[in-house]
Amino acid sequence: MEINTPTFGGRVVAVAVAAGALATTAGVVNGWGSVDQPLNAMATNMDLAAKIAGSTAAPQAQQQTVHVIKPGLEAAKLMRAQQLDAGQHVDQALRFAQDGYNARQAEIQRKADADAAEKARVADENAKIAAQEAAKRPAVVKPAEGTFTSGFGGRWGTTHYGVDIANAIGTPIVSAMDGVVIEAGPASGFGLWVRVQHTDGTITIYGHVNEIIANTGTQVKAGDLIATIGNRGESTGPHLHFEVWVNGSQKIDPQAWLAERGITL
Ligand SMILES: [Zn+2]
Repeated sequence: MEINTPTFGGRVVAVAVAAGALATTAGVVNGWGSVDQPLNAMATNMDLAAKIAGSTAAPQAQQQTVHVIKPGLEAAKLMRAQQLDAGQHVDQALRFAQDGYNARQAEIQRKADADAAEKARVADENAKIAAQEAAKRPAVVKPAEGTFTSGFGGRWGTTHYGVDIANAIGTPIVSAMDGVVIEAGPASGFGLWVRVQHTDGTITIYGHVNEIIANTGTQVKAGDLIATIGNRGESTGPHLHFEVWVNGSQKIDPQAWLAERGITL
């Protein structure tokens, strides 16, 4: 009807339809209710429905308690209870076992940690001792005891590239600084020599030696025995011929080099 009334606007038609639908719905639900009070009528209807339902419900049955003893069932219940009890014991035993295992593992770990800590402490202590000894140890030492007989420079129409320290054959020769023996063996004019390379690149040479103690490749500390005084090669008497090379091959005055490091020949 409303749709067939083209003179109304779409908005007015929609309102009219909605109002009609509400009125119709209220009427259907209530049935006998008042159309102008649809919500109250609906509540009334629900109360009535509840009353009807209550009046038609069957009376509640009388509760009866009957004890029926079934020995087999009782035994089964008892066994089940005991089984549960045993199960609990097993659970408890497992927990205790787990606790014991955990405790043992914790103890093993604790011992391992303690051992590791002790090892670290000992290593630290050793490092400290080594550092103290290294600090006490001189960086440079006199390569041999004896009489200073000849210095660096011109001599007999040629250049003497080292210093001579005279002493008896077999007198100890030591490395002047920490380093590594890079050569130990025969050398022209020197008879036998030992060459030690130091960490700063300086090389020290020990010539005319009687006996080589530290062979090529040996790591040495300042003061370590490397050879003994001899009279080999072009030598006029038992002595150590000592040279200092810087930058690989530049021969400098060993006496000045030693003096700069607190060593007097
Ligand atoms: Zn010499």
